[in-house]
Amino acid sequence: MRTIRNLHEMRAYSRQARRAGSTLGFVPTMGALHEGHLSLVRQSVARCNVTVASIFINPAQFGENEDLAVYPVDLENDRDLLKRAGADVLFLPTAADIYPPGFKTHVTVSDVTARLCGKSRPMFFRGVITVVLKLLNIVEPDTAFFGEKDRQQLEVVKTMVRDLNLDVAIASGPIVREADGLAMSSRNRYLSEADRVSALCLSRALSAASQRVRAGEVTAENLRREMLGIIQKEGRAEVDYISVCDPRSFEEKETIGDEALIALAVKIGGTRLIDNCIVGGKKK
Ligand code: AMP
Repeated sequence: MRTIRNLHEMRAYSRQARRAGSTLGFVPTMGALHEGHLSLVRQSVARCNVTVASIFINPAQFGENEDLAVYPVDLENDRDLLKRAGADVLFLPTAADIYPPGFKTHVTVSDVTARLCGKSRPMFFRGVITVVLKLLNIVEPDTAFFGEKDRQQLEVVKTMVRDLNLDVAIASGPIVREADGLAMSSRNRYLSEADRVSALCLSRALSAASQRVRAGEVTAENLRREMLGIIQKEGRAEVDYISVCDPRSFEEKETIGDEALIALAVKIGGTRLIDNCIVGGKKK
């Protein structure tokens, strides 16, 4: 596996691969890799001739009081995991190259970013979309892979790709969980032993809500109330949002209808965790 730091070298590599007839898959990440990331890498390896994975902790998507300064870094292990998953290139751009002095351009997607994570993290999607567009422009992949763990991010990326006529396919992969149900996340590394136990309230709340929908519940507010009850039982949990919403517009729903997204953001001992699932008759 090759490591490329330079932006021009990255673009030259991609163009050469495509000239040689290869299809190119791209998996953008912030590192501290786990099975969630690696499942996307494996999907890319299965579908594309060449797979590029990037690690870039994007300062533009962190708010002032968030965890940029302490975000986990584990480069040697990440490199090893990517190599074993079959990636061809690790792209490791620097913040100075991505945001050189005088950088002035940001991309915003309206409406869908006003809710859920966009509401509690106002600059988050502007930072994500700007860096994703830049990375897509540098790597020029045929297909880019994103996880359903960040379902709103996935929809926002798809919206940007459609609205700006980008020539890239967006593929997604299901949420990868620990054996006990906790959605894998680089931020799980922050959890103390007690936090780790409390963190199970997210997947427990989602399972309870899904089960209730399967048993015939159609009223969104009843589901929100039940999930709130489950989460509030954990002393270490602080709810950011509990949403039963449309899976594409993220507008809150009154009734489940054909399909609904249940999405949670909860701080556990100060660590903000998110999780989600789709419920309803048309469940994929
Ligand atoms: P991150 O490094 O957190 O920016 O995540 C990079 C990519 O991996 C994003 O597309 C995430 O949605 C995806 N991802 C993170 N955790 C998981 C997970 N548990 N299951 C599936 N995909 C994930």
